[in-house]
Amino acid sequence: MTDFDSFRTDTRAWLEANCPAEMRQPIRSEADMCWGGRNWTFASDAQRQWLAVMAERGWTVPDWPKDYGGGGLSADETRILKEEMGRIGARQPLYSFGISMLGPALLKFGTEEQKRHYLPQIARGEIRWCQGYSEPGAGSDLAGLQTKAEDKGDHWLVNGQKVWTSYADKADWIFCLVRTSTESKQGGISFLLFDMETPGVSTRPILLISGNSPFCETFFDDVKVPKAQVVGEVDKGWDVAKYLLGHEREMISGMGLGGGGSLGAELRLQVIPTDPMLRADIAAFDVDALAFQAMSERFSAMWKAGEAHPASPSMMKYAGTELNKRRKELIMARGGSDAIQSEREHGGHDAHDWLRSKGNSIEGGTSEIQLNIVAKHILRLPGA
Ligand SMILES: Cc1cc2nc3c(=O)[nH]c(=O)nc-3n(C[C@H](O)[C@H](O)[C@H](O)COP(=O)(O)OP(=O)(O)OC[C@H]3O[C@@H](n4cnc5c(N)ncnc54)[C@H](O)[C@@H]3O)c2cc1C
Repeated sequence: MTDFDSFRTDTRAWLEANCPAEMRQPIRSEADMCWGGRNWTFASDAQRQWLAVMAERGWTVPDWPKDYGGGGLSADETRILKEEMGRIGARQPLYSFGISMLGPALLKFGTEEQKRHYLPQIARGEIRWCQGYSEPGAGSDLAGLQTKAEDKGDHWLVNGQKVWTSYADKADWIFCLVRTSTESKQGGISFLLFDMETPGVSTRPILLISGNSPFCETFFDDVKVPKAQVVGEVDKGWDVAKYLLGHEREMISGMGLGGGGSLGAELRLQVIPTDPMLRADIAAFDVDALAFQAMSERFSAMWKAGEAHPASPSMMKYAGTELNKRRKELIMARGGSDAIQSEREHGGHDAHDWLRSKGNSIEGGTSEIQLNIVAKHILRLPGA
């Protein structure tokens, strides 16, 4: 027996003993996804217990170092853990922008003090984060941001506005891009962390096509932020921002994997579509999804080893989000012309998921911007 075999056996036994039956059911609604944070209300005791046991073992962030609340697992052990969780249909114990976006940036650019302070709290699901990047005049052209942070000696004074800030009204803290100098566009940006309860911070939800309102306009009016809450160097936050975007794009590209199973099998369990064109489209989709899964595993291993091509996150984000949109279109097509109405009547979430998927190719940078980045890197054009 190799070390990996015994790790798999132990992991399987531990998961069998510790993953509550309810946490092995598919996610049916937003309430089934645990986001943690100061104000989180657990949907059930099972959800609370699953987060607690996984966090205690460091398995909410299995590949982070143990000193920072992680599990200290190697890439292979992390993969085995994922496979074993998939085998029993175990839910992710924690959904968190802290884990998928801020954490990796802190590991690379944070001071030792910042790492020891923030990372264990992120791993335990104690802080819910939001991302303050986009502004009314700065989306694709993110470096055009205008939110200003003035140096007031012992603190920064922040004034300005962000937009499309997902879950800003529910978040405890924000990681936020601010302008600290106007000397150069990318060169004058800094990366700040601050509490959303700081006086001067306010949010206003924006209603979406899907009927939900998960994101907000976020306003800063004379917000005082302690000096120690800058990540990386002052005026060099663009490097932190870009690195974080690579991780965000990797996370979003994972949507292309869907639940991991075949769409044909999933739909056949419900109703076999009689339309031969639709059946052919579903089969073609499954072939592309398998190819994407293989590419995704390869990219993920190379990215973690620091060997991925610089355009890879953009390539994967583009491919994964376009694939997810196709998946949702096919699910709705299977429902026929009354799909939306019958969904509403039966309380399903397919129509909501279909509408929400339209945002996948916008959030984290639009598909057009990803294609521009890929083209610049491959053709070695200026600005890559
Ligand atoms: C679901 C969702 C969640 C989001 N969550 C957050 C969040 O939590 N925090 C946050 O900061 N932001 C968030 N965003 C905002 C997102 O990052 C921006 O919407 C995105 O970067 C695009 O910016 P924009 O909306 O200003 O569009 P614009 O930049 O105005 O683009 C409009 C159109 O022009 C195209 N375009 C623009 N420039 C070019 C170019 N150079 N070449 C070719 N085409 C171009 C774009 O592709 C797009 O089709 C979220 C967005 C969505 C949809």
